[in-house]
Amino acid sequence: ATARLPTLIAPARFVPHLPQRSASANKGTFGTLAVIGGANGMMGAPILAARAALYAGAGKIHVGFIGNERPTYDPPHPELMLDQVDGLSLERMSALAIGCGMGQSNAARETLHRALSVDCAKLIDADALNWLARDPEAANLLRAHEGHAVLTPHPLEAARLLGTDVAAIEQDRLRSARTLAARYGATVVLKGSGTVIASADGRHIAVNPTGNAGLATGGSGDVLGGLIGALLAQRMHAFEAACAGVFLHGRAAEALAAEGEGPAGLTAGELAPMFRRLLNRL
Ligand code: AMP
Ligand code: MG
Repeated sequence: ATARLPTLIAPARFVPHLPQRSASANKGTFGTLAVIGGANGMMGAPILAARAALYAGAGKIHVGFIGNERPTYDPPHPELMLDQVDGLSLERMSALAIGCGMGQSNAARETLHRALSVDCAKLIDADALNWLARDPEAANLLRAHEGHAVLTPHPLEAARLLGTDVAAIEQDRLRSARTLAARYGATVVLKGSGTVIASADGRHIAVNPTGNAGLATGGSGDVLGGLIGALLAQRMHAFEAACAGVFLHGRAAEALAAEGEGPAGLTAGELAPMFRRLLNRL
């Protein structure tokens, strides 16, 4: 049966599915995430995503850069392992977050094909979505391989994927999200105020009530991608991971605004320590 009416996301929807930190856990318990992107000139995007993943509890985090101008480590977060993407064994990861700052080069396309051919959970954002829109081979790889996938388009990326314009996407956001979910067999997060989450099987659709215009700032989508990617790496299922990530990302912006650290001048990186605090209190 297709759910026609959306539900509003509330913590009760995802809290039972959040990763549990049992006393006997080790870092392997919480999965290994590879964040893949970062062409030359766009190195910040995957670093923001990877830092967010750290604050969301992933056990180990690699960044696989496409560009050759990569930093060797992240000074505020030396916990992150920064590599050239060709040097990473993607088969060993529990989840991949693909696309942030990835660019439109041939190397980016080849890397995307390699990542989409791995059978694990995937978070697909930004330039990886732009590739999906114009590269049928990438779309086929996504459909042919195992593992939950979450697509996180903003309205312009959604418009490219559906071959239409932003006005048409925004005119019926629920339908746009459902159509994308069915087309790619993936959970779809259609971003923007009142983010819509549609499950791959068409059975669930939810609208997020949290967030504010402080999130309308560069890097905030990368932080969301890292957060959801980390939840996937910790083996949450796609729809629940997407709902939890979107809700907490928005709540973090609200909590920062309540302290005067937004909405104006909120920086995307500040969201991570705040959603960590919220996550640990749930
Ligand atoms: P991106 O466009 O990829 O950087 O992603 C922006 C992020 O901020 C998404 O999670 C959006 O849903 C969120 N966002 C942007 N503007 C707003 C807004 N006015 N209200 C709530 N969330 C927003
Ligand atoms: Mg984005």
